[in-house]
Amino acid sequence: MMVAGATKIHSRCITKSVGSPWDAITFVPSKRYPGYPKATHPVVDLALNVKGAEIPENRVRLEPGQRIDDEDRVVRADRFAVSRDHRERVRGRHILLLDDTWVSGAKIQSAAVTLRDAGASRVTALCVARWCRVDWDDHKALLDSCTDPYDPFICPVSGKNCVEG
Ligand SMILES: [Zn+2]
Repeated sequence: MMVAGATKIHSRCITKSVGSPWDAITFVPSKRYPGYPKATHPVVDLALNVKGAEIPENRVRLEPGQRIDDEDRVVRADRFAVSRDHRERVRGRHILLLDDTWVSGAKIQSAAVTLRDAGASRVTALCVARWCRVDWDDHKALLDSCTDPYDPFICPVSGKNCVEG
């Protein structure tokens, strides 16, 4: 619902902010989830809820790269690779990049660099959740500031209510 809300209700907000609508969709691949490699990662289902993902040619496959398992939280393009047969889907296009969890940001930012290196004209990163620990002071402050329930009309771009204006 959060992905559908962000990309359907706020697609014009993203387009206005970036300067063009997204042309293609991908997600940050992972080798760490229950059932790997036979099961499908939950982020795949999130990506299929994005406006435009119903068209197969709009889907870009990122693959785990040589350095995907590095835990150093450094942004680097070789954590991921664009699938060889999807490179033409990236070149010159605005890619919407999804991830299900933000920890340090190194993975989604690395995937964005991979896409830019492959020729993407723009990359918009959309992350659904953030990993937090209540016993970490800066995380506690963030959690304490989240007092309202989730509202799909709150814009992921502006932080304002896009229906009430
Ligand atoms: Zn909006």
